[in-house]
Amino acid sequence: AHRPLRGQKAIVTGGSSGIGAGVARAFARAGAAVGINYRSGREAAEALVEEIAREGGEAIALGADVSDEGQVQAMFRAALDAFGRLDILVANSGIQQDAPIAEMTAAQWRRVIDVNLTGQFLCAREAVRAFLAQGVTPDGPSRAAGKIVCMSSVHDVIPWAGHANYAASKGGVALLVKTLAQELAEKRIRVNAISPGAIRTPINREAWATPEAEARLLALIPYGRVGEPEDVAEAAVWLASDASDYVVGTTLYVDGGMTLYPAFRDNG
Ligand code: NAD
Repeated sequence: AHRPLRGQKAIVTGGSSGIGAGVARAFARAGAAVGINYRSGREAAEALVEEIAREGGEAIALGADVSDEGQVQAMFRAALDAFGRLDILVANSGIQQDAPIAEMTAAQWRRVIDVNLTGQFLCAREAVRAFLAQGVTPDGPSRAAGKIVCMSSVHDVIPWAGHANYAASKGGVALLVKTLAQELAEKRIRVNAISPGAIRTPINREAWATPEAEARLLALIPYGRVGEPEDVAEAAVWLASDASDYVVGTTLYVDGGMTLYPAFRDNG
């Protein structure tokens, strides 16, 4: 089998469900050892570790709230103790706490920014520290000193009424990624983002759980199907592998065309 991540060590935050679980499975199949971060889903993370081991892959479960500096630092220490090095971070954890702006509490605003934006900063910083400490290893498993893939969203460009905290967090991720990429390229650290469209996961269950809801959602998707975690996972494998070695600071939209303003197709 083609194993573009052979010998590499990765951390995937929010790896026990949805897109993160898809990324963890695809990374393991691609030859990486995967640290599967979870916050509350310990059993799901451990079940995924066992599933990956049964298929001949390597994984460990890593508990941490990505918005907590001390927990993030402890998680990276645990991963480095287990793996001996780190090649890839997929900063994927994210939440929604939706409310019209007039009703949004400061707690809802802060929690979403803390997890979706500050959490990506904290994890990226610890990954960069590990990458800088190990440097480019000429006979290492990758041409880069390290790779970071941040999970953004089409809502880093598409405004989203009723979700101001979420859209602001993803807009922040978009420029965090470009700035880190610009700052770290000379150290041979590559930072890129994936912006998924509508992917079938627990975060948006009400958007696809009934045929009526799915039909409304499909009106926004030119390609005519809801995305699956595997669609995003394949993009993450590519962005983490040497196949994308010259891709620095880009955002890859994996959205079935959702960012193409499909309403203009029929009403332009
Ligand atoms: P999900 O709810 O299955 O995954 C989110 C993960 O983040 C969960 O595993 C959860 O445990 C974890 N998490 C939440 N708070 C955390 C914290 N404080 N610390 C550590 N982990 C925490 O949903 P998903 O769709 O797989 O979401 C993954 C990412 O993809 C998110 O960043 C989300 O914003 C983004 N995204 C999803 C879609 C979609 O349509 N599903 C679209 C665009 C972007």
